[in-house]
Amino acid sequence: MIGVLALQGGFIEHINALRKLGVPSFEIRQKADLINKDIKGLIFPGGESTVIGKLLCELELFDPLDRLIKSGIPVFGTCAGLILLAKKIVNDDSVYFEAIDIAAKRNAFGRQLGSFHTTGDFADLKNVEMTFIRAPYIEQAASDVKVLSKINEHIVAAMQRNVLVTAFHPELTNDLRVHEFFIKNL
Ligand code: GLN
Repeated sequence: MIGVLALQGGFIEHINALRKLGVPSFEIRQKADLINKDIKGLIFPGGESTVIGKLLCELELFDPLDRLIKSGIPVFGTCAGLILLAKKIVNDDSVYFEAIDIAAKRNAFGRQLGSFHTTGDFADLKNVEMTFIRAPYIEQAASDVKVLSKINEHIVAAMQRNVLVTAFHPELTNDLRVHEFFIKNL
């Protein structure tokens, strides 16, 4: 089963996307939710990374999730989820899981272009639907990070080892191919 972090933000949309692909999932709201589960992967949704980060600590979910990520199970973070997984946040002093060797910039597309919809290439996939909402982009990526997608010269999707991140929200579109890409790695 895939555990979807359900503290704040757009977790329901991920659960729905997984359901459409026939993949069972469960919501992670507290430590007890992690007990006695066959956890095959994790999804960290969009939302407000500062709020989710604070709740992760308050609910003592940070350490058990950190251990799961380090155990090598596939993890997928979208938008705020990308920020939570990044090794560095260029315009914020906080860091969270430091699970992928990228420097992320929060709210990077600016006020005017805060939210927009476009299509772009993702890995070998063409014309993938991409919804950006006050999204970050990846300002720097280490040489062993695989860049999967760029929009306006900015990296918006990447993968390193077991960690996949997108700055956009594939779960807010009908295009299930990015989730499919993630579950193929399970
Ligand atoms: N701007 C949010 C943050 O910095 C991310 C927005 C999103 O997840 N849609 O956490």
